[in-house]
Amino acid sequence: FIKMRDIKKSFNIGKENELEILHGINFDVNEGDFVSVVGQSGSGKSTLMNIIGLLDRQTSGYYELNKVDISSLKDSELSSYRSKKIGFVFQNFNLIPRSNALKNVELPMTYAGVSKKERTERAERLLEIVDMKDRMKHLPNELSGGQKQRVAIARSMANNPDIILADEPTGALDSKTGRNVMDLFHKLNEVDKRTIIIITHNLELAEEATRIYKMNDGMLEEI
Ligand code: ATP
Ligand code: MG
Repeated sequence: FIKMRDIKKSFNIGKENELEILHGINFDVNEGDFVSVVGQSGSGKSTLMNIIGLLDRQTSGYYELNKVDISSLKDSELSSYRSKKIGFVFQNFNLIPRSNALKNVELPMTYAGVSKKERTERAERLLEIVDMKDRMKHLPNELSGGQKQRVAIARSMANNPDIILADEPTGALDSKTGRNVMDLFHKLNEVDKRTIIIITHNLELAEEATRIYKMNDGMLEEI
């Protein structure tokens, strides 16, 4: 479902200088897996996540998502493939400040061309799943951190993605609120078998995944 072979990633750092950050990643994820990735700051976790999430491309190596060789896609195809397949959750929620919770969840569906009526119905249903329906008219700054993250998780599900990628989703939350957010990921994984990949610095939460990986300075190992 996700298949990566010898993925390398370098960044340009000034004149003809390249810095290799990922040194040959092999990574397989099956549909329905709950995967966690731990590792020190700067080890390359987000860099890998951005490649998995089709926000960036590898410098070399093979990446296949759902039987599609990603290198064969043009940039325009990549972004439409991304919006169909992948939902993102970030440490700092990344909600649109001027839009209420409902509108935030509707937004990815607006881009996907879903009708107004259907978007609203689906957004309300998703907010119900994350237990935020009673706050759907609130703006992000009228919500607590945990509530914002629950809205962001509802938004990540908007286009019914195959995979949810969460980069430090509990990093800005206290431990109890982080626990609730983690429970929500478990629910999404168990109830509708959605594939979850979560980056976290919290080893206790990481250990709840069915497969745990550690990034060591640009090399990934299963632990
Ligand atoms: P953290 O736990 O702090 O989020 P991380 O494991 O997610 O760390 P990355 O964000 O993947 O780390 O960064 C890995 C390395 O790649 C860092 O040294 C960073 O400076 C470098 N890097 C990331 N993006 C770029 C870029 N666009 N250009 C140059 N270097 C980059
Ligand atoms: Mg990171």
